[in-house]
Amino acid sequence: MTLNLKDYVASYPDFPEPGVLFRDISPLLENGAAYHQATNQIVDYAKQLNVDMVVGPEARGFIVGCPVAYDLNIGFAPARKKGKLPGQTVKATYGLEYGESSLYLHDDAIKPGQRVLVTDDLLATGGTIAATIQLVEDLGGVVAGTAFFVELMDLKGRDQIKGYDILSLMQY
Ligand code: AMP
Repeated sequence: MTLNLKDYVASYPDFPEPGVLFRDISPLLENGAAYHQATNQIVDYAKQLNVDMVVGPEARGFIVGCPVAYDLNIGFAPARKKGKLPGQTVKATYGLEYGESSLYLHDDAIKPGQRVLVTDDLLATGGTIAATIQLVEDLGGVVAGTAFFVELMDLKGRDQIKGYDILSLMQY
């Protein structure tokens, strides 16, 4: 039986601040069949793209990317926020739907030429994914595709990552 994944997304107006309609994937994660179905769709996509590595931004990018990497028996590199990664890193700064932030990746996380799938739970303005793509490319990685559970169409995140392949499982 195929589930309607939108039945497993909760919507919270004015969170975390007024004017933001927060799409929460917690119900999807809490349901084994729904999480499995969503993950499998991304695994199939990653197989088509022949990826060697998955990279996702803190924190919900890990939730989407790690089970995909596990299933494909490939590595996962976390793009983390300031002060979290020890050692040598590369950095990218970006604007958010609410605020500004930086992401970091270990400078040996990706080998030049590796094909990378970049994952996050949700594509909003596209700033987070654009920064993650920049980190991968700074290290010589090839971004084979990007994958999200949810895409917020009116925020036009796609326009930030023109030319990159995008899989989003649900659109609002
Ligand atoms: P953006 O950089 O604007 O594409 O924002 C994407 C990141 O922020 C994702 O990691 C989401 O987890 C989070 N995010 C931004 N806007 C929302 C929203 N309306 N509902 C849920 N999460 C959001």
